[in-house]
This record gives sequence, structure tokens and C-alpha cells, in this order.
Amino acid sequence: MQKYIDQLNEAQREPVLQKDGPMIIIAGAGSGKTRVLTIRIAYLMSQGIDAFSILSLTFTNKAAREMKKRISDIVGSNEAKNLWMGTFHSVFARILRSEADKLGYPSNFTIYDSQDSVRAISGIIKEMQLDRDVYKPKQVLGRISSYKNSLITVKAYFNNPELQEQDAMSKKPRLGEIYQNYVDRCFKAGAMDFDDLLLKTNELLTRFPEVLAKYQNRFRYILVDEYQDTNHSQYLIVRALSDKFQNICVVGDDAQSIYAFRGANINNILNFQKDYDGVKTFRLEQNYRSTKNIVEAANTIIDKNKTKLDKVVWTANDFGPKIKVHRSLTDAEEGRFVASTIFEQKMQHQMMNGQFAILYRTNAQSRAMEDALRKRDIPYRIYGGLSFYQRKEIKDVLCYLRLVLNPKDEEALVRVINYPHRGIGDTTVEKLTVAANHYKRSIFEVMKNIDKIDLKLNSGTKQKLQDFVMMIESFQVINENQDAFYITDHVAKKTGLVQELKKDATPEGMAKIQNIEELLNGIKDFTEGQREIDGARGALSEFMEDVALATDLDKDTSDEDRVALMTIHLAKGLEFPHVFVVGMEEDLFPSAMSMSTRSELEEERRLFYVALTRAEHQAYLTYSQSRYRWGKLTDSEPSRFIEEIDGQYLEYLTPVENNYRYKPMIDSDIFGDVDKSKLRLAKPVAGTPPSYVTNNEPKPDLNIRKLKPVSSNPSSGAANLFDNKLVAGNIVMHERFGKGEVLNLEGVGADKKAEIKFEVGGIKKLLLRFAKLDVI
Ligand code: ATP
Ligand code: MG
Repeated sequence: MQKYIDQLNEAQREPVLQKDGPMIIIAGAGSGKTRVLTIRIAYLMSQGIDAFSILSLTFTNKAAREMKKRISDIVGSNEAKNLWMGTFHSVFARILRSEADKLGYPSNFTIYDSQDSVRAISGIIKEMQLDRDVYKPKQVLGRISSYKNSLITVKAYFNNPELQEQDAMSKKPRLGEIYQNYVDRCFKAGAMDFDDLLLKTNELLTRFPEVLAKYQNRFRYILVDEYQDTNHSQYLIVRALSDKFQNICVVGDDAQSIYAFRGANINNILNFQKDYDGVKTFRLEQNYRSTKNIVEAANTIIDKNKTKLDKVVWTANDFGPKIKVHRSLTDAEEGRFVASTIFEQKMQHQMMNGQFAILYRTNAQSRAMEDALRKRDIPYRIYGGLSFYQRKEIKDVLCYLRLVLNPKDEEALVRVINYPHRGIGDTTVEKLTVAANHYKRSIFEVMKNIDKIDLKLNSGTKQKLQDFVMMIESFQVINENQDAFYITDHVAKKTGLVQELKKDATPEGMAKIQNIEELLNGIKDFTEGQREIDGARGALSEFMEDVALATDLDKDTSDEDRVALMTIHLAKGLEFPHVFVVGMEEDLFPSAMSMSTRSELEEERRLFYVALTRAEHQAYLTYSQSRYRWGKLTDSEPSRFIEEIDGQYLEYLTPVENNYRYKPMIDSDIFGDVDKSKLRLAKPVAGTPPSYVTNNEPKPDLNIRKLKPVSSNPSSGAANLFDNKLVAGNIVMHERFGKGEVLNLEGVGADKKAEIKFEVGGIKKLLLRFAKLDVI
């Protein structure tokens, strides 16, 4: 143990050796926060703390596995086995399973993924005969999700006239009813969605003091990584569990808080000192990950944010190469640059594919990169996007397996009851659904009792329903004694799924069969792995738990050497020798959707900070002068974030021509801050970094070219009001800020702004070309 402690620097050692009490470690990227957590856990164990009483919450399950492995190396795998480690969702799903009966749930409850939830909501909207264009299922789900994460239950919703009014004003007066129906439907199906895992845990801990006491006594030491991205629901769980012993250690970096859009609350980190008595605060300042150039450039970026804690980050590492900036004409060319650079680096320096990462703001950007990598025969792996387990053929198999474990699971049942085709039509399913709602039973139970209920079905249909029930029940019998591999193989064959896919001899069809084989291989690995660990059977229920809670990063099971492609959000906590941040363009990064307020822009800037600080040795920033967006070729300009980096850290690979134009710094324009908004880039000389000159001149006409309305995205639904007749006194609805009154208008064209007094949140100035407003 001592050896590992000696490897830490002094600032890192202190929080490791501080055994008890509440503590917070606030430190910049790459300063060893995660490492400190890991060593701290090993140290606690070496001090005689039982692994069983340590709870550690991480951002991905993969991070948890890696930590556990490191701890096993230090204290031995037998000791580390009992550590509770994982994401909030996986840890609390486990606790909910053992306490489910208290909440009226079966212990084998299903966990709905977002696809299931959207399907359920769509079904409800249809049953309620509402307009799908107004009640967009994904949007409705987003709303319900934010209620759940703020612990606003259906009951709380109906007790809160303000919320109801807000939904009514955004033309969704029946949102509460949908919420109610969705909750009922999940409950009846014995299912929880992702947000429920946190909401129900909170319910469990508040409604049942004895349960709270049990887990408080059990988890004497609690550690949380990436604390800056916890939401309110997660915060309350941690608070409740740590309340008795107060041995709580959280680590985080306010500069890396990037999930506000999903309800993460940066105040959780800022207020930690107030929440506990005698909090010890530790700061780590030395970055071990990156070169001086990267660390210092990252510092200059985050300095632009106003809302931040003061922090120092420095490194003893070499200066390293400068950050390389590359401009291309099209996104295809950008892809070619990235692919050929990787190719050359591999050749020249014998590097592995896995040492490169390509990071982007939105998933859609991966396509150009993929094309270019394929042409160069460079293997890559995309994280995120449609994950393996959500592919249709895989999800079909999984839904059968879900039914084996929980036949009440309505989404699974509706999905596979007539796939492969077995003559059970939509009308029959509708009748079953109506009956199930009427009797307050699951569809499966209705099917089991089909002889006793008069649904006006002919005897052939009844027989088919009974056959289906018998098939699922026969699987259940087999599942009692067999492992996950056996039952999956059996289900894939006996349901006719494999035969169905074999009918399709196209390459796509064959790929689907291969995917099912890959699923079976994965399950085989799982069952064998379980046997090795503790001689367990490798039961289906355990496998399904893994699948339901796997985050995108967790599915990286293969050891193949591949370039990593992912969104910046997913890259949090990771590191790579070479990192490409692509699509460094205005309206893309920062995103056009996140520029209307300073706080949104600051979140984008933090995201850029996260992206850059993933790089150990070399960072590349690339941008294209045009790009297909929403089906149209659009001109683009370099991201302001490139300009925000001090020029001494940058090397321009392509001559910088006159493609920097004045562009209003929206945050500063709106808030009247004096910073670079009052500056503009001097016409750069080819081959040299741009420099700033003050600008009090009128803006060049070129600016007009930027008038492209953001809401040309037909799916965004954003009102493009900059040429509408908005007048002072109008009452408007903003997607995020709610209801407000227009006080004043200023500027013209693309610069037109409205000063709006929102009922919640006060007065804000919004640039109309970005603001998502509806006049009501
Ligand atoms: P992030 O904010 O990105 O999550 P972090 O603060 O969690 O970063 P770590 O991932 O723990 O940082 O550490 C960054 C890198 O520095 C890792 O490769 C880690 O092994 C290394 N490192 C941390 N501390 C030391 C040290 N004292 N000596 C040598 N290497 C170290
Ligand atoms: Mg970390």
C-alpha cells in the first residue's frame, strides 16, 4: 500500500490519508482526482474498513470496473470483490431490486430504456387521441424526465398550478394526464425507466426510515467521482445516505460541468461546504496528463467563463507540440485530413489506433469521419449513437428475454407478440390493451385468462394467444435451471427469430444474423466470467441487468485496437495521446441552440475545455468552411473558441485567410460585458495566427450573410422571430425560461434582441435569431 501512496504527490496524499469526515476535492482536468479516489479506497481497506461498507459512484460502469481492477491489484481481488461500485443507476437498481416489494414492484422489474419509454408515451398519446405534432413523444418524455429528476411526482405536479399553467401555455394542457398514464403504465408493467431508478430510490429512503437506516449503517464511506454533474435527485440520495457517518468524499471540477441540459446542478459542488459540518477542501493543481501547451491553452479558455471557482492548473510535463489548427473546404476534406494524419502518425511513430480519439459536438458529425477512415482502412469504433443492444434484431431477442423474466413487461410484449409473424394482429392487441386497462391487469394476464373474458375473438386467435403464453411459460421453466447462454440460444431458435432472419439473404440480413451470434458470444463470455468469479450460474437476470444499465462506454468489451469516435460529452474522464476536436465552427460548437444566454455559452465553453484536456500529447482543432446541415450546404466560420486560445499555443497548418469576420460575441453583446466582443480579429496575414484590434467601426456588411435563421432546421420547432413583428408588451413563452413579457426591443436584422422579463429567472436579453420564443 505504502508504495502506491508514495507515488502520489503531497497534495494528492492528504485527501487519501484523511480517513473520516466530509471532504471535497476540487481540481482541474488531469490532476489525478480519479486516481486519488482509487487509492483512497484501497487505503481505507488497508485500514481495516470492510469493502462491504464502501460505496463508490462513478460516471460509467467501465470506470468502476477499471477502478475495481486497480484496487484488486493493490489489496487483492478477494478483498475488492465486495466493493459497491458503479453508476448511480446501476448501484441503486440493485438496491431497489432487494427492496422492490416495499414500493409495490416485483424484484424482477424491467428497466425501460429510452426507446421503450418513447414507445410507451407514443402509445398513450395515441390512446388519448392527442395531436402528435403538438405532443411530440420525445419532448413529452423530456418534460416528464425533468419533473422526475426534480422529484416532482404526478401528485406534486397536480398540486402545483404554476407547472400546469406553464404546460398549458406551451400548448400541452394534458401533459399531467400523460404523466399520470405513463406512471400507471410503467407500474402495471412492472417497469421503471432510468429516472425512476433515482426517483424511487429517493422515495424508498424517505418513506421507509428503517431502509434508510439500514443503508446508512452499511455505507460508512461514500465516494463520488464527477460530482459536478450530479442532478438534484442524485444529490439527495447521496445526502441522505451520508447523513449518519458523514464520511463522504466527493471529487469534481466545476470547469467540467457539462450536463446542465439534463438537470445536472453545478451548485451541488459549489454548495458542498454548506451541506456538511467541518468540510475539508482539497485542491490538486498539478496536471499529469497533458503537455504544457495543452494545459496552458485550456487555462486560457476557461478563464473566459465568469461563473467558476478559482483554480490553478499547471504541469511539469514538456511543452510538447503546439495545438494544430486545420481548415478545410468541406467536411469530407476535414475527414480526409484527420484520417491521413492518423495514418502518417501511425507510420512515422509506430502508434496504435487506440491512441487516437476523434471528438465532436454532435453524433451526426461522425459520418464524414467514418467515410474517411474506411477509405484509409483504419479501424474505428463509434461510442454512443444507436448502441448494439438497441439494434432491432438484438432488441427483439432481448424483449423475449425480458418477457421470460417479467411477463408483465408491456413494451416487450407488444413488440414481439407478432414478430415473427404469428397471426396476432393490431386489432387483437388493441382489444387486449383495452381489457388490460379495464381490469387493471397486465396484457399477459389477460391473455392467460382469455377463455374467461369475452373480447369477441375467434377461436383461432384465442388459440394463438394461448400458444404464445405457453411458449413464454416454457421458457420460464427452462430458465430456472439453465444459464443465460442456454436460454438465449433456445429463445432465438424456438421463437422463430433466427429462421425469420435467415429468409433475408441480403448482406443486411446476414449482418443481422451475425449480430445475434455476437450477442450469443457476449453472453457466453458473461456466463463463463460469472462462473470464474464465484461459481455462479450466470443467470439471465444478471445478464439483463448488465445490459439494461450498460452505458455506451461500457459496451467496449473487445480488445481490438481501434480509433475512438465519440461526442465530447461521452469523453469525460478519458484520456488519449492524440485528440482531434473536429467541427470547430460557429453554430456547431458552440452550438446554435446554446448561445442565447451566457450560461448556455459558458456550458459550451466548459465542453470545449473537457475536449481539449482529454489530449495527452497532441491536440488538433479542425474546422470546415462549409458543411451539410439539415440537408443544405451551409457556410461556416471558425469557432470563437479557437480565437479564445492565446495564439502562442497554436500552430496553423493551413494559411489563415480572410475567413474570420466580425461576429458578435453573443454573451457579451447581450450582457454588455467588455471583453473580446469589443475586439475583432485583424485581417490575419497568411500563415500567422490572427491578432486582435479594437473595433468601434460599423460592422461590415458581410455580417448579413450570417442571417441564415437557425430555425431553418424544420425539426427544431424554434420560432425564428427576428423578422417577425414582436413588440414590447407581447407575452411570450420560452422553451426553457417559461413565460415572460417583452419589455424592449433593440437592434436590427440578425442582431435584433428582445429584453424579456421572465416570471422565473428575471430579465434576460435574447438574440431573436436564436431565441426559441412563441408569442402567446
Ligand atoms: P479528469 O478531470 O479528466 O477526470 P482526473 O483529475 O480524474 O482527470 P486522473 O484521470 O486521475 O485525473 O489522472 C490523469 C492522469 O495522470 C492519469 O493517467 C493518471 O494515472 C496520471 N496521474 C495522476 N496522478 C499522478 C501522479 N502522482 N504521478 C503520476 N501520474 C499521475
Ligand atoms: Mg477523472
